[in-house]
Amino acid sequence: MSERFPPAQKEYLIKKFPLDPPSLSELVPIINAGLAQNFESAAVEVTACPDLRAAPFHLAGLGISGSERIVDIGGPPNLHPTPKFEKQYSLLSILKDIELDHGFLLGASAGPFHQLGYNSELMPNLAKGLDGQVYNRTHYAKVAEDGGYFSDFIQDNMRDCGLMANLFASEGSPGPVLKITARHRTGPLNFLASIQKSLANKYGERVVSLGGVFLITKGKVNMHVMPDFRREPLEDKDVPRWLKFFDMDAPLVCLSIFHSYDPGLDLRMEHTHCFSLQEKGRAAQGGHYHGDTTPDEVEYEAYFNTAKMLFRVDQPV
Ligand code: ZN
Repeated sequence: MSERFPPAQKEYLIKKFPLDPPSLSELVPIINAGLAQNFESAAVEVTACPDLRAAPFHLAGLGISGSERIVDIGGPPNLHPTPKFEKQYSLLSILKDIELDHGFLLGASAGPFHQLGYNSELMPNLAKGLDGQVYNRTHYAKVAEDGGYFSDFIQDNMRDCGLMANLFASEGSPGPVLKITARHRTGPLNFLASIQKSLANKYGERVVSLGGVFLITKGKVNMHVMPDFRREPLEDKDVPRWLKFFDMDAPLVCLSIFHSYDPGLDLRMEHTHCFSLQEKGRAAQGGHYHGDTTPDEVEYEAYFNTAKMLFRVDQPV
């Protein structure tokens, strides 16, 4: 769909909520118990965050510590039934909006259609240093003309997203994190749903929000990639048929945020986008994570931190 997009909406509302998460060590047995119900083996510990800029992570920031926060921007009502093309967000402005003059953003969003010229999935992965230097390792994925998908790094100067975004932000410092591993799924819940449910059961209306990165080191996962915008309105019930679903293979790097409870902010309760680099003769992969499709084989390795602050930006009315 070739489209002239309107300028970005200049003003939007920012709401801020301090959170009071349990300590990482308190979360260890709770998450472990949740995973044990759905995986043959799982382990949770508090450990020093590995250097996330190195392989196999390929992230823009060293770590996920310091002023940890999650921001939920826009939402699906900006996509359907009719896309709101003025909903264009600058990742660097978002950093400022959530009161960080430097830091590291990662997560899941819709792509910058106004920069790319079409709709896509985005894996925001961008750091701004103390010296103001921006390091952009963001990937995007689109539906290709042959009906398959195409994924790659986005151009360095494309630092926006569109319509909706769910991001974990921090100063990008090294620090203690939850390391969570799980393999061989035996229950109905996927990796994140298992963790999310254990937190919800334990903490009720106390919001526990986590974000970070996980690797799928073995197995296949079901992912979707949004096709380009359609001319006719897209009703809620038609969204699953509109999305293009693909099986993608490990190894995958997944950027993720999720919450245990929504205190009435119309939060996206979980949002995860994954990518892999082009390597060993294999094309790069990318998309929105739904869950693994090879339960016997699948293996996960996650590094998460808790958010100490929650921001809701430009909540659809
Ligand atoms: Zn998504």
